[in-house]
Amino acid sequence: MPKKYHIHPKPAPLGLEYVFKFKIVRGENCINCGKCTKVCIYEAHKRRKEDPRRMADPNTVVCRNCFRCIQECPRGALEKSLDKDFAGIGGAFWKPDMLISLWKQAEDGKVPVSGAGYRGPFTGAGFDSMWTDMSEIVRPTRDGIHGREYISTSVDLGRRLNHLVFDAEGRLVSKVPDTVDLPIPILFESPTADLSANVREALVKAAAEIGTCIIMPAADITPEFAGYSDSIIPCLAPVEIDTHRAVIEKARLVAIKHSDALMSDLPRVREEIRRISHALTIIRVPAENDVEETVARLAHSGAEIIHIVADYCGRELNGSPVSEQRLLKDIVRAVHLRLVEDRIRDEVTLIASGGIAMAEHVPKAMLCGADLTAIDIPLMIALGARVYEKPEKQLIFPEGLARIPVPLVTQRMVNLMGAWHSQILEVMGAMGIREARRLRGESGRAILFEEVDRDTFGKLFKNNREAVSK
Ligand code: SF4
Ligand code: SF4
Repeated sequence: MPKKYHIHPKPAPLGLEYVFKFKIVRGENCINCGKCTKVCIYEAHKRRKEDPRRMADPNTVVCRNCFRCIQECPRGALEKSLDKDFAGIGGAFWKPDMLISLWKQAEDGKVPVSGAGYRGPFTGAGFDSMWTDMSEIVRPTRDGIHGREYISTSVDLGRRLNHLVFDAEGRLVSKVPDTVDLPIPILFESPTADLSANVREALVKAAAEIGTCIIMPAADITPEFAGYSDSIIPCLAPVEIDTHRAVIEKARLVAIKHSDALMSDLPRVREEIRRISHALTIIRVPAENDVEETVARLAHSGAEIIHIVADYCGRELNGSPVSEQRLLKDIVRAVHLRLVEDRIRDEVTLIASGGIAMAEHVPKAMLCGADLTAIDIPLMIALGARVYEKPEKQLIFPEGLARIPVPLVTQRMVNLMGAWHSQILEVMGAMGIREARRLRGESGRAILFEEVDRDTFGKLFKNNREAVSK
């Protein structure tokens, strides 16, 4: 059996100011009795290190909103109030609670718990209208996700053969294509925002530590990253291939930006890269309204890995009104089904990105038909960044982040991925799936709200409509 893949989280407090929905304030009437230190099992209340006779400021980061300390303080000295800076944070997709959950996961790498039960809606747009079938929950998770049962999250990138051909003597005739194996179905992407030097370095180091790769503009791959060639995927336009020969030479994967001209030029571009290195080629395709056509044509032209890139909220990039844009769930399903129809699904690897905001989105995107996913914004949120959707997309980094040492910044991203890996194992274990490769397009394990709604109420409403029209 292969060695178990494991991500090693460690507590990594940033020590910078976060903005939380609520803040806990200790009033002047506190008598430092220490009762709150005993009642809060999340250790939000501690005594001051320099003077243990007095209480330290409450640590809101770990608070799970159970209100126990507030109820049990003998002096009524604790108060939980809404933080005014929290208003306007996130938006319809990047919900504020999502940001808080990601900050917390980056803090210690633990799987999030709400502590007060789930109070949100049970359906919504995109991945929120999809549930995973957990009916196998009693079997593989019996002794925990890190127990004896081995659940593999490994995936391969590259072309696969539909069948093997052997000669009359039983020798393999088919040329088996090269593939790249990753231990987790998540690639990193370098966000378009201006990044400080420590954050850029940490992105590369975190990708290397967890065994995945980061897609970054070839022009940003400076000599200091020379030791990380296996973990960096240079991204460039076809005309830049010659300029970036040195980085392509050492890379395992190269990402090429799609353009109309590339469609007819793809064999030549792949050949040009192959002359420089053995790297596999990823074609990055914007998720526009005809993306399934583009992907099918690329796959027929020999593309081995295709990366579908939606916007930061997982929406289609076609300039249509927001209400008409498809979301990543439907985009990936449409592309997957189109490739299945054309009988070439197994010959191409699909990466989905844009709107992968929580761990559960990874297996959900795979159930829709992706082989793996790519993320950027969640890695920035792990560093305390805030996303704003209105009036326009904004990513605000906490002040002082540029001064945080690289190992600490790296550890926060590793922690986030550790928490996501555990959650992916939980979901797979509960579904009775032990191989992430088997998640791809396994739609029988997904429950889609629109299908359930149609099957349950469709007939009823159809009859009603007919009755009204009579
Ligand atoms: S329980 Fe109340 S009075 Fe006692 S230390 Fe905590 S905040 Fe202060
Ligand atoms: S509300 Fe609950 S979780 Fe939060 S600090 Fe108080 S006791 Fe701890």
